Amino acid sequence: MQVDIAVIGGGFSAVATVINVLDRLGQDTTVALVSRKSGLGRGVAYSTTEPWHRLNVPAGRMSLLADKPDHLCEWLAEEATEFGAEDFIPRQLYGRYLQDTLADRLLRADNSAQVWLVDAEVLDCEQLTDEQQVYHLSDGQLLHAKKSIFCIGGTPAGLPVAPEKLAPEARSRICLNVWSDPWMEKTDPNDEIVMLGSGLTMIDQVLSLKARRHQGRIQVISRHGLTPLPHRVPRSHPVAPTFEPGSKPLSGMMKALREAASKAEDWRAVVDGLRPITQSLWQHLSTSERARFLRHANAWWSIHRHRLAPDMWESFSQLRQSGQVSVAAGWLREVYQADGKVRSAYFDRHSRTLRQISSDWLINCTGMDRCSISKTPLLKKMSSRGMIRSDVMGLGLAVDQESRLINEVGEASRSAFALGPMTVGQFFEIFAVPDIRVQAAAVAGRIAKELS
Ligand SMILES: Cc1cc2nc3c(=O)[nH]c(=O)nc-3n(C[C@H](O)[C@H](O)[C@H](O)COP(=O)(O)OP(=O)(O)OC[C@H]3O[C@@H](n4cnc5c(N)ncnc54)[C@H](O)[C@@H]3O)c2cc1C
Repeated sequence: MQVDIAVIGGGFSAVATVINVLDRLGQDTTVALVSRKSGLGRGVAYSTTEPWHRLNVPAGRMSLLADKPDHLCEWLAEEATEFGAEDFIPRQLYGRYLQDTLADRLLRADNSAQVWLVDAEVLDCEQLTDEQQVYHLSDGQLLHAKKSIFCIGGTPAGLPVAPEKLAPEARSRICLNVWSDPWMEKTDPNDEIVMLGSGLTMIDQVLSLKARRHQGRIQVISRHGLTPLPHRVPRSHPVAPTFEPGSKPLSGMMKALREAASKAEDWRAVVDGLRPITQSLWQHLSTSERARFLRHANAWWSIHRHRLAPDMWESFSQLRQSGQVSVAAGWLREVYQADGKVRSAYFDRHSRTLRQISSDWLINCTGMDRCSISKTPLLKKMSSRGMIRSDVMGLGLAVDQESRLINEVGEASRSAFALGPMTVGQFFEIFAVPDIRVQAAAVAGRIAKELS
């Protein structure tokens, strides 16, 4: 099979890319969308079937298309849902929006590019010439493409404990991947649960337990013990930052932000005001400043930046106030089995002592891992061929400002691009829909120009 463009992946990034390509290229162009799972368009984020798993960004800012900001709200109205621009809609519904929009675009009889949906995993990729890659697919086929866009996301993070410190006997009471293991179905309402990680993944799991009228204690452990903060509705108008990218060292920027937040009516306005320049701020930091930011400030940045719908925050806060949910700060050291229970030993951040908690279940809520070459078989093979390398910080794949993959000798590819969380090292803020959709439009635009 030979195509002009191969898009690898089946989540948001892939859908946004294909739609942008269709908007730019005519019917003499062929595109293969290669995805290994059913549920095309949803990816990990939007595959949930639980109605209380909701977006953490209001619908008014979650359009799939950067140039049509009202697209999602129009779809919600056409579908006669009760939701509007300020609502944090169920992620399941958002997944349907992505699938519907893709299907609608593919079925539209116009002169745009032809798309083949290929239900397979990409096992390997070789670079034949500057403008020709060949993919080895899990169904045995070979796919040749002139241009490639990798949209394969990250992988669920493992438990942050050395393998030899995880007793195999305890394994049956541990959920390593909350998105593929239906662990809640095995629980009793009075079971005691330990959750590792205190971000949005943990909130999803706690609210699912609440909806099932779970009564048992839930103890959360994370390195900083910080939990996401709420949005405010209506949103305060963003406040423009008082500095330009590169104009201050990291410490100076943090100071200016703290000052601005203390003067603002709502600190969220200061955080939101940074949004247009966050990628540029990151790119102007030196490698050591980036490392310092990740070590000391990222956990704080995350809870202020990745906020929760106010009513979800309220539900979670009530569970904390009632004592059913508690949050500790510390590092997991060892997991073993004792008296038929899981025993988690962790080093407490505040008391600097080793503590132990006994529970019926240990649930890994540490979220998505960085896109690591060593943990992704396809990337490992591409790396061994010299086609890709990690970014300097080891967060994802090295790409240039145009999202082109960079090979082992530092050359930017003429034909292969990466999108979404895989490009975090270059762009930092590239996880959420409002950022990925801009990247997808830009990459599709570049490819369209080069092919025509
Ligand atoms: C639980 C969760 C909730 C989120 N909520 C929000 C939100 O409310 N608002 C927001 O803006 N952002 C949210 N995000 C972030 C954001 O939407 C994601 O970062 C985005 O969906 C990433 O999409 P992706 O397509 O790059 O990756 P993914 O969604 O991870 O998709 C990757 C796809 O590639 C496929 N794939 C991988 N390897 C191969 C291979 N070798 N061959 C073929 N296919 C392959 C996978 O099967 C998968 O379909 C959320 C993220 C998560 C995890």
